[in-house]
Amino acid sequence: MSGQDFAGSVIVVTGASTGLGRAIAIETAGRGAQAVIINYANSAAEADETARMVIEAGAEAVLVKADVGQDEGCKTIVEAAARFGKIDALFNNAGITKFAPDHSDLDAVSMDDFLRLYQVNVVGAFMMIRAARSLLEAGPRAGSVVNTSSIAAVTGIGSSVPYAASKGALTTMTLSLARALAPKIRVNAVCPGFIDTPWFEKGIPAQTVERMRQGVAASTPLKAASTAEDIAGAAVFFASPAARHVTGETLLVDAGTHLGMASLSMR
Ligand code: NAP
Repeated sequence: MSGQDFAGSVIVVTGASTGLGRAIAIETAGRGAQAVIINYANSAAEADETARMVIEAGAEAVLVKADVGQDEGCKTIVEAAARFGKIDALFNNAGITKFAPDHSDLDAVSMDDFLRLYQVNVVGAFMMIRAARSLLEAGPRAGSVVNTSSIAAVTGIGSSVPYAASKGALTTMTLSLARALAPKIRVNAVCPGFIDTPWFEKGIPAQTVERMRQGVAASTPLKAASTAEDIAGAAVFFASPAARHVTGETLLVDAGTHLGMASLSMR
């Protein structure tokens, strides 16, 4: 990858008010993007701050408040890119969870929890791709979709059963659409482990988050609690020219968390 990988590119990032989405927006802007469409659901002040940072990094910032769980919301986000005539990369990063970490407590999640998580995490990504398809196909190179999945998709661990299941579905959809939309669009996914973002503040006490942070830093092979910036580079790689022959791929970006099989270690 080089410093100007995204020169002249139009980038759409859903869920870019904070956390990983913000880091992706800034990373692509810093690598020469012409414009970054910054979607968010509620956090207007935080989205404004992302826009300020994107402009500082050298790109035009376009803010769009919209729910990716609604077809109209997805169309509104894509319409913001229409005046540029193309979308080079779509980062389907918006996500939600219901914190129900005791997976054995089946009553901790309702049918509505399941449906809402799928609506945003899976159907939202699908509707974004559908809305963006013609603009993703309009550029000189294959358009790129990068879905933010999770280590939950491949291990079943995570904030709740519906969350892990929704990310599993998103990973599978990545494969289906990579096949279906080739050769004009590439579709890949990153599966982060723990990322130190405002995500956990939405349902976990600060003390517990701090314990997680320290636990992850102590137990991962790379001895690190990943920041959003640690993950953004891997997501952006998929959209870069260096990954031009990569599609239908899933990349674990978890500081080695998935290797954590200490009980089988022979030393
Ligand atoms: P975050 O800082 O809480 O960001 C979540 C983003 O999603 C926010 O910008 C939020 O917007 C947006 N969002 C939520 N619902 C939306 C909707 N219906 N429509 C549009 N935007 C919506 O958390 P994060 O950690 O960066 O999460 C980003 C992605 O990484 C998610 O897909 C998450 O599942 C995934 N992930 C996170 C971790 C982790 O440990 N943090 C690990 C693996 C995967 P508002 O702020 O406006 O609500």
